[in-house]
Amino acid sequence: MHEISVCFEVVKSVEKIVEENNLTEVETIVLEIGELSSIVPKYMDECFIVAVEGTMFENTKLEIEVIAGIGRCGSCGKVYQLLKNNGYCPECKEKSFEVISGREFNIKEIVAC
Ligand SMILES: [Zn+2]
Repeated sequence: MHEISVCFEVVKSVEKIVEENNLTEVETIVLEIGELSSIVPKYMDECFIVAVEGTMFENTKLEIEVIAGIGRCGSCGKVYQLLKNNGYCPECKEKSFEVISGREFNIKEIVAC
């Protein structure tokens, strides 16, 4: 479980943004997490609470937007949801695909006041 180190990284990055923009309080941090990234959103919530202890983000909310894992079939070209289909193309049942989205991990937005 490496979510805790990811959370510390997020806190560090947001602290930098806060400093650069002279913000005083951050209400919400919005993260974009791809289904195919190795980060589990559920763990992020728990780790965030630990990571913000003693920082200015103790009252900051964490919002996570999950991006679906989408792939394009290598043999028939169909675009489909990878996790829902266990990676297999629903058209031709092949399991050779090119990932189009789902590996993202971004700080999407910071709501500050
Ligand atoms: Zn196919």
